[in-house]
Amino acid sequence: MLIGPGGVGKGTVAERLVARDPGLWLSRSWTTRPQRPGEADDAYVFVDRDAFEAHRAAGGFFESAEFLENLYGTPHPHGPSGSDVLLEIDVEGARQVLDRRPDATVILLVPPSLEEQEARMAGRGDDAEHVAARLQRGRAEVEGGQAMTPLVVVNDDLDQAVDDVAGIVARIRSERRAAQGAASQRPSEGVRMAQGRNNTLMDPPIEDLLDKVDSKFTLVALGSMRARQVNAYYNSLGEGLGRVVPPQVTSVSGKPLSIAFEEIAAGKATYTRPDPEEEAAELALLEAKEAEETAEAIAAGGAFGEQPAVVGDDDEGPAAG
Ligand code: 5GP
Repeated sequence: MLIGPGGVGKGTVAERLVARDPGLWLSRSWTTRPQRPGEADDAYVFVDRDAFEAHRAAGGFFESAEFLENLYGTPHPHGPSGSDVLLEIDVEGARQVLDRRPDATVILLVPPSLEEQEARMAGRGDDAEHVAARLQRGRAEVEGGQAMTPLVVVNDDLDQAVDDVAGIVARIRSERRAAQGAASQRPSEGVRMAQGRNNTLMDPPIEDLLDKVDSKFTLVALGSMRARQVNAYYNSLGEGLGRVVPPQVTSVSGKPLSIAFEEIAAGKATYTRPDPEEEAAELALLEAKEAEETAEAIAAGGAFGEQPAVVGDDDEGPAAG
């Protein structure tokens, strides 16, 4: 489900998505809203209130809701078998769908700014009063949407927004395939991470992550190290970033550990296991240096009470970028 405030461009994003993804089927809604000038005849099934109510009373809708004095409804989906159904609806409708299909995914599309959204609405012929009412309703849609899903895409650049949504769809399909595979294999392979109210996604999929590292142990170590660094970055925002490396990916979840895994999947956070011989040589050098320093300290009058120097510190470790 694609949700978001009116005028944010859900319709355009949805059309572009189905145009490039034959496995995605866009449901056509019914509405009592009059057709806008220039709006395609098949944008909706345009009906009057009586026809809508009659269809609703006959159980013809999967969900229906009132939006700014007009009724909107999704007929029972009837796309080609095997296709994924895409709904472009409001938050109230999305809630009803989640009640019936808790496995559905909700993606919230938001405008870069309210001014931008206002301009879009004015540009398509809505009058000033209507724009104001829609803006107010839009804020409620964003707030309701944020409470409903962690999957938020900013429609700043249309191509980028379509790519972002398509990326989420791809990940969900991949996760679904993995879950289907995992169900028939060992359950422990299906590492899962809760994402949002209804979705349980390992995102990126575990197989993608294991492709990037040499062991599960490294994945856990690198992931938690980067998650700590990302967390430190967020904590230090506005105070000068120093050596703290900011997130290297645009994350859909925004949670440090998810960002870390997304970085690993994207090859932005990497770990190279040191060559054992080189590592041993480095260690021998360090030990020799320490021994030399200790001998110097003893020669200079004894320094047994002092702590040895700390070599390296906790913030270092796997490099990002
Ligand atoms: P518009 O009048 O701008 O086309 O749509 C107004 C709002 O109704 C938008 O947020 C749109 O996503 C939503 N909407 C469109 N179709 C449906 C539907 O079938 N059900 C629900 N609940 N909302 C819909």
